[in-house]
Order: sequence, then structure tokens, then C-alpha cells
Amino acid sequence: MSSHAREARRAGRRIGLVPTMGALHAGHLALVTEARRRADLVVMSVFVNPLQFGPSEDFARYPRDLARDTAEARAGGVDVLWAPSLEGMYPEPPQVTVLPGAAGGRLEGAVRPGHFAGVLTVVLKLFGIVAPDVAVFGRKDFQQAVLVRRMVRDLNLPVDIVVAPTVREPDGLALSSRNAFLDPPSRRAAAGLSRALAAGAAAYRAGERSAAAIAECARRVLEGAGTLAVDYVTCVGPDDVEPLETVDECSVLVLAARVGGTRLIDNVVLGPGLEGDVRVAG
Ligand code: AMP
Repeated sequence: MSSHAREARRAGRRIGLVPTMGALHAGHLALVTEARRRADLVVMSVFVNPLQFGPSEDFARYPRDLARDTAEARAGGVDVLWAPSLEGMYPEPPQVTVLPGAAGGRLEGAVRPGHFAGVLTVVLKLFGIVAPDVAVFGRKDFQQAVLVRRMVRDLNLPVDIVVAPTVREPDGLALSSRNAFLDPPSRRAAAGLSRALAAGAAAYRAGERSAAAIAECARRVLEGAGTLAVDYVTCVGPDDVEPLETVDECSVLVLAARVGGTRLIDNVVLGPGLEGDVRVAG
């Protein structure tokens, strides 16, 4: 991968990277479209990164189907589909890893200790191997995108980070590889996540500015949606994932819930500012 990328760079081609864990869906392919607009060679990595899974999480059962992913990636316009092996990525357990800092300990980081150290470490390795000019991430994993941008800034990495909008099912459920685990009752309950976000955003539009009130409004909808266990529902700042008392149009309503045995996350920007556009930073 490294020498292929080097050759492309030498030929003057801009390289775009779309990191994924496979089980591709239209959300991943929307990232490819964004990468295509900004790069000449679009590389998609498929790697289920053990470092970002806790001991009791779903690493073993995470969906893997490289043949299907290859067909999807080809149809989606990927130039290079790169699926490194576990031994290739981690010939031995890494000694040096990335510390995500305070923002990495909140929300997902609080529920999944070590998760973002695993994410940032693998992303930095992918950047090291591919050396992309631009890398595209989904806003669906809002906190991840914040931390990747922060890593790029703090470590002066020569890559532009693009964060692309969330692709959803018709009923609002954010596409996710983990949706495949949902049985029909869980699938119905899962639609409550985006309904809860919509209720919070509607409260904001109606003039509510208290973070607690907006979160409470979303929580009520979520808890009414069926059998699910709420991990968190809260409003945070867009650049630091800091909990807020008062929100503005850039604030992000984030939530996580367990439906059946499956953990789902979603978020929405409260104001009209960001949803729908692509935010570039780096
Ligand atoms: P994953 O394979 O779940 O690790 O996701 C790989 C990339 O796709 C990450 O940058 C995710 O944020 C992004 N992604 C996942 N689901 C969606 C979605 N529904 N819409 C847009 N991007 C997504």
C-alpha cells in the first residue's frame, strides 16, 4: 500500500483516504464520493481494529464480508480497496499509542475506556502508511471526527480532514454496520434515536436554549421508543465535546443507547449551521 501510494504521489496524484471497518453501506460510499471530489486516487481501508474494542465488546462478531465489500467499493468508485491483515498492522502489540486527551474521555470514551486511543492509533498508522492528502470521516461518529481533527492539529499531520453528513434510512435511523444485528422489534426501537434528536432540534428551533431541557426532551422520546437502555443524551460543544449549560446553533445533541445487544450512537447539530454542509478542517 505504501509503495503504491508513493508511486501515485510521485505521478502528481492527490490521494484521498476513507478509513472503514468494512460491512460497507451507503454511508461509507458517501464518504467515497466526498473523497473523489478532492482526490485523484481514492483509497479505502477495511480493517476491524482490535485496539478500539473493549474486552467485552463485539470485535469477534463484528460483520466481515470482504467479497461483498469489494463489489460495493468497486461500484462506489474506490480505486484501491486495502484490507490489511491483523498481523500486518500489528506484528507485535504496539508500545507507542496516541493519547486522546480530555475530549477522548467523555461520552463514548467514558463508556468505552481506551476506545479513542485505539481509534487514533490506528488512524495515525493508516495516515503513516498511505500518507493521504485528504481523509474523509463521517459525522455520524461525531466525537471520533472531533478527535481526529484535534490529532491532526496537535501533531501537525499534513492531511486535510473532511467530515461528511450522516446518511440515514428513510425513517431516520443512521446507517451503521451494526444495524445488521437488529431484530425487527429492536429495529423499530432504533428509529427512536433519530426521532429523539429531531425532538431536541425542534425544541431548539422553538427557542429552548437550556442544554438540560433539550436533552430531557430527547430522552423522553428515546425512552418512549421501545426496549432500549440509554447510555447518554447530552448537548456538547462542536470542537471539544465539552458538556454545555446553554446551547447555540453549533452545539451538538449526542446520544447513545443499547437496543437488544447492540449499541447505537447518533447526533445532530442543533442549528441550521452545519447539517447538510461538509466541514473542512485540518
Ligand atoms: P466504520 O466502518 O463504522 O468504522 O465507519 C467508517 C467511516 O464511515 C467513519 O468515518 C464513520 O463515521 C463513517 N460512517 C459510518 N456510518 C455512516 C453514516 N451513516 N453516514 C456517514 N458516514 C458514516
